[in-house]
Amino acid sequence: MESIIKIFSSHGTLIQPDTLEYILKKDDPEEFSNRIISQLKEYPLILTLNQVKELEENLDETIDLPHAGIDEEEISKHIPSIRQITIPVEGEIGQSSIQFKEEIKDNGREIISTSTWKPVAKEYQSDIKIIKDITGKSLSEGSTEDFAKLFSDRFETLRKILRTQRREVAQVIPINRLKKVDFKEIQLIGIVNEVRTTVNGNRLIELEDDTGIVTAIALKKQSDVFQQAKLVLEDEIIGIVGQLSKQGDLFVISKIVFPDISLNNHHHTTDIPIYAAFIGDLHVGSREFMEHQWNLFIKWLKGKLGNIRQREVAGRIKYLIIPGDVVDGIGVYPNQEKDLIITDLYKQYEALADYLSMIPDYISVIIQPGNHDAVRPAEPQPTFEKEIQDLFTGNDITFIGNPCSFTIHGVEILSYHGQSMLDYATRISTLKYNEPLEIMKVMLQKHHLAPVYGGYTPLAPEHRDYMVIDRIPDIFVTGHVHLAGIGEYRGVTLINASSWQKQTGYQKMMNFIPNPAKIPIAELHTGKVTMMDFNSI
Ligand code: FE
Ligand code: ZN
Repeated sequence: MESIIKIFSSHGTLIQPDTLEYILKKDDPEEFSNRIISQLKEYPLILTLNQVKELEENLDETIDLPHAGIDEEEISKHIPSIRQITIPVEGEIGQSSIQFKEEIKDNGREIISTSTWKPVAKEYQSDIKIIKDITGKSLSEGSTEDFAKLFSDRFETLRKILRTQRREVAQVIPINRLKKVDFKEIQLIGIVNEVRTTVNGNRLIELEDDTGIVTAIALKKQSDVFQQAKLVLEDEIIGIVGQLSKQGDLFVISKIVFPDISLNNHHHTTDIPIYAAFIGDLHVGSREFMEHQWNLFIKWLKGKLGNIRQREVAGRIKYLIIPGDVVDGIGVYPNQEKDLIITDLYKQYEALADYLSMIPDYISVIIQPGNHDAVRPAEPQPTFEKEIQDLFTGNDITFIGNPCSFTIHGVEILSYHGQSMLDYATRISTLKYNEPLEIMKVMLQKHHLAPVYGGYTPLAPEHRDYMVIDRIPDIFVTGHVHLAGIGEYRGVTLINASSWQKQTGYQKMMNFIPNPAKIPIAELHTGKVTMMDFNSI
């Protein structure tokens, strides 16, 4: 047994107990494990039983795939349509840090003496409108009735989107009429009760609407439908197109329809040249909080660090958006105390307030909670209580819930901390926890942030499904995975907002390498995104 665990752990992958049990039943578990490993394009954090079974299907047609790197360069190759530039703060390339420090000093003196640096953002009033947020609207008591309301709202909202926006299911019929019609091609919309792989390797989907239930099948030999079926999650709303089998007991799927985004989707821009910067997962209170890099960031924001171009960028930043895990919290994972430098929750927020007070006062800060924060763990999460909000004085701060849709000068942002990315990565074999942008694309295709009930993401049964993406944002930002990435999907800018916490002991144990102290910056008047890097100085 240990040798099997070792085969996987040497690649940084953990296997779940049921997966291990499954492997141990094989004739030669070691050989089987090695063959499974050879099937992996990348090594996931956790290998689930479903993933192993799916990989097993391909074992006969083994192709040796290169182990792709997972750096930003690799990600950017998949998203060629966006201009992605990482701007290291000056001094990173070809200069020793000592020379650089002197240069900053000189620059600093120069700025102070000539005071040529004028922040453009200071000339504009902030303009924030909250569009969709659970804060103050929670109705959930956790009753069965609440759950019924949540799922019926999810169904109604997404059925409407599917019917009106997807031609393929515009002629949808109720499931109970299935046997009464004589169409060549039948269209259905429903919630996925169950999805699994059959012994023959086909994908079975049980679909339900308000009139009935049907068992549908995506045949393995029909590769395009089968690939689509691999993306289907339990509890999500999908459209299917197909025919009843001759015996009339199975619905054979010819196409699966996700809501998706129109190819003509238009990205809104501002007419004023201001920027929004994203700083995710600060984890104040953690021993690994990167105070040195934070101080450099503040220096840069104040126009005292960087070359002329970089200081100009700093001066255009009007908004700082923080998508969750603003403090490290307490009792979030076992033995967290030893990783904390501030062990009192309120003191963590006080320290955060001190750090944020360093930010120039013309910059508006938008703060969202994450799974480490002092709000209810179930999503959607309302924002912080008044006693925490009152700790922050001096800056213009807007507290929002998680998730939240809001606009800044008419540019719409969907901000979601991102806890459900683990559910996506463990249930869909083509997605990986360390490729958040790919997961975000699938979320947009499904128009849902966290469909699976009973997975890793706790969901509160609100009467409206706040996790549905019923408005297409211009910018979609997540945090949580502590990676930094920028991308694009059908006119929507995708951002994963890095973190301000070095690798923790827990992450080391899980062999997870974060990509901290980077700042994605959205140019609101052009739609372009760039990234600042505060690591090498
Ligand atoms: Fe975090
Ligand atoms: Zn988190």
